[in-house]
Amino acid sequence: MKPRHIPVMAREVIHYLVNGNSEIFLDCTVGAGGHAAKILEAASPYSRLIGIDTDLEAIALARENLSSYGDRVSLIHGNFADMSEILSQQGVSQVDGIIIDLGVSSLQLDTPDRGFSFRNDGPLDMRMDRSSGQPISYDLNRKSAAELAEIIRTFGEERWAKRIASNIVSARERSAVITTTQLAEIVKKSVPRYSGKIHPATRTFQALRIYKNSELANLKSFLEQAIPTLRSGGRICAISFHSLEDRVVKHTFRAMERGCVCPPDAPICICGGKPEIKILTKRPVTPQQEEIEDNPRCRSAKLRAAAKL
Ligand code: SAH
Repeated sequence: MKPRHIPVMAREVIHYLVNGNSEIFLDCTVGAGGHAAKILEAASPYSRLIGIDTDLEAIALARENLSSYGDRVSLIHGNFADMSEILSQQGVSQVDGIIIDLGVSSLQLDTPDRGFSFRNDGPLDMRMDRSSGQPISYDLNRKSAAELAEIIRTFGEERWAKRIASNIVSARERSAVITTTQLAEIVKKSVPRYSGKIHPATRTFQALRIYKNSELANLKSFLEQAIPTLRSGGRICAISFHSLEDRVVKHTFRAMERGCVCPPDAPICICGGKPEIKILTKRPVTPQQEEIEDNPRCRSAKLRAAAKL
């Protein structure tokens, strides 16, 4: 049987991230520890890795899976949007390599009671960090149709957002919308033609998950902190799974590579901004066909890498 948690584009990540001189790595989404193990394997035995995850179950699993690396590994339950604070609590000011592998893990997706998947019947939770906040069902049963439509349109790029939202509101007048199957049915009925290729609820589930976990805001905040934290010559790898995330990574990297923020028609630079990074991947790197066959969930992955100047 194939392992359930296969690190996405591990070979490519190692290529961009690891060299013999690297001492400290930061894995911002340690998950089951797939990438972390590959990094620790490829790097010098004197290197260490700090792994962060917002999901307590992921931290417990990573602790088990990475136990053979002993004190080369420190695992912390926290949000990558707080990375600077987390590192300073560890007494670390700069690192040599940072990896962020965004999105939801197989473990989260395949556990019905996490509520991430419309393929499994479960409570509509969708929190990556179940130690705080309210499940998404809380929002679904309280927000106005306009608010729900806005979330589904913005984070799902769903053209039928308004219809879906108004059908959620009318369904909840009969009974509260609390399960993934209920929501998947409502969405299916709201979307007129359904080609059968991707499930009609895919975009709505994605939108609600991004909203619930403030994924884009966290990513922006992470990127602002990550580059200053890299040592000169240090590397960053970011893997994203949908275009909204990839766009944030792409634009931030490009702006940091340019440095200057003067208008394009300005005759000379007056802002004084200097390039901070060099982008190592002109286009995003995508998984090889072979990897997609092994692990179909990685098919939409995009890896962008950069080096700190
Ligand atoms: N690279 C891992 C898999 C990561 S899956 C491996 O090879 O095993 C993505 C992980 O990111 C999930 O465990 C999820 O809980 C975590 N995550 C998502 N948003 C986060 C955030 N804002 N802060 C920290 N971890 C986050």
